[in-house]
Amino acid sequence: MAIILNGRRLAKSLNQGRVKPAAASLSRPPGLAVVLVGGDPASEVYVRRKGLVAERVGFHHRQITLPVDTSEAEVLAIVAELNSDDAIDGILVQLPLPAHVNSKLVLDALDPAKDVDGFHPENAGLLAQGRPRFVACTPKGCMELLADAEVPLSGKQAVIVGRSNIVGRPMAMLLEQANCTVTVCHSRTRELEAHVRCADVLVAAIGRPRHIPGEWVKPGAAVLDVGINRIDDGSLVGDVDFAVAEQRAGWITPVPGGVGPMTIAMLMANTLHSAQLRLC
Ligand code: NDP
Repeated sequence: MAIILNGRRLAKSLNQGRVKPAAASLSRPPGLAVVLVGGDPASEVYVRRKGLVAERVGFHHRQITLPVDTSEAEVLAIVAELNSDDAIDGILVQLPLPAHVNSKLVLDALDPAKDVDGFHPENAGLLAQGRPRFVACTPKGCMELLADAEVPLSGKQAVIVGRSNIVGRPMAMLLEQANCTVTVCHSRTRELEAHVRCADVLVAAIGRPRHIPGEWVKPGAAVLDVGINRIDDGSLVGDVDFAVAEQRAGWITPVPGGVGPMTIAMLMANTLHSAQLRLC
């Protein structure tokens, strides 16, 4: 039976034990701005949670909610204003943006020194070169979960399913930099099962409910399930079939309560880091 990697507990302990006291010791509170365009219900929930946690750790928090028909130029103008706001250390533009707004253009317009999501090409490039500044929050949270549980990584076979810029790609870099041998799988991968069965560390970031059968999980593996999928009965499930995987894995994250809370905790950690770089 696997050890459950409890992201809710670890996130709380990092937020309260590490981030909050460090924030309180600065000459002014770290400032986080969150920009939401449109009323996507899932995005609204994420943004609300981020705001609540920011307040709990003592940050200055600004939420900018714009109507769905806000033009690209208007979004860019908000980003420019936040870039030059001295009280703001971190800017997060909640994705997805409406189709008429080019998200690459908007993310590229962020001041890379305030890009606490780590999506700007400059920050992605720094990570690729092994000298990270802001690391994307979800992969960073996965690494914290592995470190906290002291999961051995060096020389291990890591398999990541999904190659998005926000999860799969940065995750691959972090695991490679932790001396894993990394395989990245995607929708064109042949024989996904054969790859997954070899994984000592499996990261699933696909966005398809229970796409990976538990039987594929290598006995003793560490399973990080990033997927968040709402199924017909209204509940949330991951990309891995948890019930069976839990019987085989050495460690596993639940959905919900695994990677999700860690993503928010890493957003706070990155915002604190940005404030420290600016103020100290
Ligand atoms: P994307 O849709 O951007 O990427 C999904 C990836 O999965 C793509 O690389 C795609 O391959 C791959 N994929 C799709 N179908 C298959 C398949 N049948 N076999 C193998 N690979 C496949 O998603 P994100 O990375 O943004 O998110 C992934 C999941 O993680 C979602 O459920 C999302 O909600 C969740 N998420 C959770 C977070 C958290 O805090 N817990 C944070 C961010 C995301 P290809 O590139 O070939 O299309």
